[in-house]
Amino acid sequence: MASELAPFRKTGGLADVAGALPKALAARGIDVRIVTPLYAGMSWDSQERLDGVLRVPMYYGHGRAAVRLGRLPGSTVPVYFIEHHAYFDRPHLYGPPGDAYSDNLERFSFFCRSALELCKAVGFTPDIVHAHDWQTALLPVYINTVEWGQPLHGAASIFTIHNMAYQGVHESGAMFITGLGREHYHSGEFEHFGDLNLMKAALVHSTLLSTVSPTYCREIQTPAFGYGLDGVLARRHWDLVGILNGIDTGEWNPATDPHLPARYDVEQLERKTQCKLALQAELGLPVDEKVALIGVIGRLTHQKGFDVLAHALPRLFDWQAQIVLLGTGDRDAEDFFSYQSHARGDRFRAVIGFNDALAHRIEAASDLFLMPSRFEPCGLNQMYSLRYGTVPVVRRTGGLADTVQNYVEADGSGTGFLFEDLTADALANTVGWALSTYYDRPQHFARLRRSGMLQDFSWARAADAYEALYRRAYRTRRGHDFPG
Ligand code: ADP
Repeated sequence: MASELAPFRKTGGLADVAGALPKALAARGIDVRIVTPLYAGMSWDSQERLDGVLRVPMYYGHGRAAVRLGRLPGSTVPVYFIEHHAYFDRPHLYGPPGDAYSDNLERFSFFCRSALELCKAVGFTPDIVHAHDWQTALLPVYINTVEWGQPLHGAASIFTIHNMAYQGVHESGAMFITGLGREHYHSGEFEHFGDLNLMKAALVHSTLLSTVSPTYCREIQTPAFGYGLDGVLARRHWDLVGILNGIDTGEWNPATDPHLPARYDVEQLERKTQCKLALQAELGLPVDEKVALIGVIGRLTHQKGFDVLAHALPRLFDWQAQIVLLGTGDRDAEDFFSYQSHARGDRFRAVIGFNDALAHRIEAASDLFLMPSRFEPCGLNQMYSLRYGTVPVVRRTGGLADTVQNYVEADGSGTGFLFEDLTADALANTVGWALSTYYDRPQHFARLRRSGMLQDFSWARAADAYEALYRRAYRTRRGHDFPG
């Protein structure tokens, strides 16, 4: 169950996981089905509308939802779209940029309850329910409470954390909207520092917990990364695992990528240079195959550390390197990078906007890829970079620490460059180290590219780990092994 699902609607990595993991699970013979809202802008024509409507218990009585059945593209995995126009037919998923819809608690309470009613209506009693992030946090809670003594109560629940920074916090007086009694509003369930916290309730109620990388799994049990819930997580550390996300290796493949001016693989890396020359020309940078090109892509938010990059830029401009940045987000950051793009057009180009095709071209064209994240639950771009022979320069945190191995100058091993401190100096010094490797130790740099391209980030590997987690959850819930 997920509140966003690629390729239908996406605001972040959660949608990618929701769209890719079920395919890998289905390939292992698991009967997996997806429930997601039907949002504005989705094409409905290809979806079959199921007979009848769901009567969904809500605090005001019953809400009614229609259900449409589609398939996850490229697979036979069923996707049940919950159709309720007043709740979901809106321009944004959760609210306008930087803001939240005031009825999000009601919308997603409805979504969670409708998933349970859907199971009953279609006669599907899952062994496992898998909820992602605060929008689906009520699902494990409802299974333990309103479904008590019913068949769905037997389902083991997994709650996966994609980002601790978003917990679904609401004012305490809104508790009645969940449909649950006031007796659940205490510090062992929903109450957290005087507010109603959906993620906390899920962390307490779910059979097992997971997050999207092993390092983030350790980090969120500490105050620096736990956003106030580190204590709750630390108490459940035996039940919490970190499983690294995979990437869509079909969409992100330099040998077949339709967005690239030249396609290449690990045996034809010289063709990557054509991608660089084409991007320099496209963006109006000096066309020069020798100069190192540094790519940066991401949401311009506090999480991604772009403020630190802003402070480091003057030092980076002193070196023989070009920098291309693609992103949207905080207005101040957008303005700052746009200004620099005009002031230092010989070295730097900022493209403000969301542009998937350009993201592919930047990954292919760049020699280095920079991610100075403050925290990073998993991160996808560093994995795309490795696959594209583009050497990542990343902060050692979360999934970045798990996917990039630091360069060893003695023998040229490793896959990228890591720095610890989130300071402009640490960032600039590490980029300097990467540039000196590029210019002065080209054999080492070629080895770094090759080593990165040979890594396995497929979903098949992650699906193995999820299946093991599902089996363990089943055993915990039922007291015996899954039969078969
Ligand atoms: P997060 O989910 O925190 O935003 P991830 O690295 O996990 O970070 O995933 C971000 C995804 O969004 C990647 O696929 C990245 O290429 C893409 N992306 C982010 N910003 C842009 C942009 N401005 N244009 C195109 N793609 C972008």
